[in-house]
Amino acid sequence: MHYGENISIVFEFPKESCLNRKCVLNSYKIIDREETDKNITLCVIPVKNHTSCKYCGHTAIRKYRVQSQPYHDTPKDCKPVVLLIDVQRYLCKKCGKTFLEALPGIHRIHNMSTRLIDLILREGKHQAPSILAKTIGCGSDEIARIFTEEKTPLIHAER
Ligand SMILES: [Zn+2]
Repeated sequence: MHYGENISIVFEFPKESCLNRKCVLNSYKIIDREETDKNITLCVIPVKNHTSCKYCGHTAIRKYRVQSQPYHDTPKDCKPVVLLIDVQRYLCKKCGKTFLEALPGIHRIHNMSTRLIDLILREGKHQAPSILAKTIGCGSDEIARIFTEEKTPLIHAER
């Protein structure tokens, strides 16, 4: 290790990471890609569209509006990756409710892919939250929160 070498290089990535990326991204179509010195942004849209209402199940739904939402994904080459997903909101013609389409591979609470959560839980056991956060591009408080939320079931599962 040389002086001045990027500390995030010590962060270990799972070997299957590229494979997983391909799997998750099979559910999405990449419409744009931007790479800077600091991070990589992939603009994507889900491949499958909703066909029925989330609340009443009726099929008379129409596209309402699209909102661009950023989600953290597993880093690539020690750079944070952001999936900028164009999320479609639908309006049900029967019950009048609107809902966002389901996003495969995205965690239901955190603005992250589920495989990134898995990576955080795995790496968080031997990496400081601040280093993890820097590599992922999120706040270290968020890392700590994920670890607190998921820690108990994880320890039980290991026993
Ligand atoms: Zn409905």
